[in-house]
Amino acid sequence: MSALRGEVYHCPYCGGEDLRPHEEPAGAWLCRSCARVFTVRLVSVDESRIPAHSHTAAEEDRP
Ligand SMILES: [Zn+2]
Repeated sequence: MSALRGEVYHCPYCGGEDLRPHEEPAGAWLCRSCARVFTVRLVSVDESRIPAHSHTAAEEDRP
């Protein structure tokens, strides 16, 4: 898993799809629709909430 930069498909500000990687700061994206430069930061991953893992988690909860 790459926590440094995830692929971004839509601008979080205007919803535009014309995004380009931006040099500064590292990992930033430039939206060519609204000219905003932003970064996306991964905070955490709660694996128990990933659907593919929920079956296993439910079994572990049983006595
Ligand atoms: Zn935008």
